[in-house]
Amino acid sequence: MDGRTYWDPEIETRPWSETVAWQVEHLPAYVRRLQERSLLYRDRLTGVDAGAITSLEMLAELPTTEKDDLRRGQAAPGTPLLGLQQAAPTEDVVQVITSSGTTGGPVYFGLTAADLAAWRRSIATMFFTAGVRRGTTTALSTAMPLVAGGMPYADGIRETGTTLAWIGGQTTARMASAMDRLRVDTLVGTASFASFFAEKVTELLGRDASTLPVRTVIGGGEPGFGQPEIRSRIQELWGAERVSEVMGLGDVCSGVWGECEAGEGMHLTAGRHVLVELIDPATGEPRPWVEGGEGEAVYTTFTREATPVLRFRSRDHVVVTGTGCSCGRRTPRIRCIGRTDDMLIYKAMNVFPSSIRDIAVAEGGALIDDVVRVRKAAANQVRFDDPIPVELQTRFSVAPGVLADLAARIEERVRQELRVRVAVEAYPPGTFDRGMYKNALTYVAAHRPEAAPLPS
Ligand SMILES: [Zn+2]
Repeated sequence: MDGRTYWDPEIETRPWSETVAWQVEHLPAYVRRLQERSLLYRDRLTGVDAGAITSLEMLAELPTTEKDDLRRGQAAPGTPLLGLQQAAPTEDVVQVITSSGTTGGPVYFGLTAADLAAWRRSIATMFFTAGVRRGTTTALSTAMPLVAGGMPYADGIRETGTTLAWIGGQTTARMASAMDRLRVDTLVGTASFASFFAEKVTELLGRDASTLPVRTVIGGGEPGFGQPEIRSRIQELWGAERVSEVMGLGDVCSGVWGECEAGEGMHLTAGRHVLVELIDPATGEPRPWVEGGEGEAVYTTFTREATPVLRFRSRDHVVVTGTGCSCGRRTPRIRCIGRTDDMLIYKAMNVFPSSIRDIAVAEGGALIDDVVRVRKAAANQVRFDDPIPVELQTRFSVAPGVLADLAARIEERVRQELRVRVAVEAYPPGTFDRGMYKNALTYVAAHRPEAAPLPS
């Protein structure tokens, strides 16, 4: 086994204020480069004195970048290959990747050779922090090389020195047999996939997934791995010792946050290449990195050459779970509680579908699946004047009285903890498609399943 404690100790264990000061030193040259090389930022940063950007306060005065800015920049005719944001000659771009495009069309990003090295290091730091080691065999379940969790993940995982088995992209049966045959002890996938796959493995191999040698399950790509009930369910299904959450984004870097063995949130692991601010999503005001603080994560890729971003609004709403840690890392730790895009409003109260899901799963225990969905009348519905319809699926037949009692408990706990009203509907097992990858937390009523809700 690998004897090291940290992958990049200098950046991980240095006092946080020193790391931030070191990051800020890169800003004047970075801003100047953007003005000189990127058409998007040449326009955005007209009149800005790059040499004056010497503090976080000065950075916070600069305009933010939205996903739509990048998308529009790629749609304009006659633009560089990777849109108006591109800041390196196309012949220097050695790889193209895309965002998963959960909303709107895909946006493409590029990596130069230097960007590729930076990504590989950041992603390796993230996976090492999450428990990937030399001397282990790590299965990667993503299927598509082009996405942030595809080839970049594979590259970063391999960099740690583990034995990489990229099993994604085959049938579930082939993946299950590879898990067994290759004695995989570390599995990387989304939270939905990790529980879906455990059940499939049990079915396909004819024995419990917990009989396989999986000891560490690492998940990212959707909120869920932060939720204690979902973690313990995944741990139990696989018979795993450790569950770790990771997070990144194609627009910035596939590997930005990784959870250490303390299991109390994800550390910033990309600090060598990415500066992150916390802001109030409504006003844009900066917020401090203090335990319990929350807001939207905003990223600046201060070394990125091909497709750099300045103050990129991730729409990820995060809560700071700590600023120090028993593991010795001194970067802040977070949980992502949802996307600010997903926020719903019930009579002036804001609520994330993921928060409702977490309460339902906590109350439902072994009775229900972790696929819990909010039904919207239309894709753009944000406001609800009536109780928000919430659908869940039982894992086996359940007596009506038990369901009525469960629905009432969920509705009451959501009302108390989130101050919104929901109307819970339970469906029989197998009603909802349990996705291989990300399970959407909301869906539109037109796609309602044909099954009727169970009587309660
Ligand atoms: Zn830690």
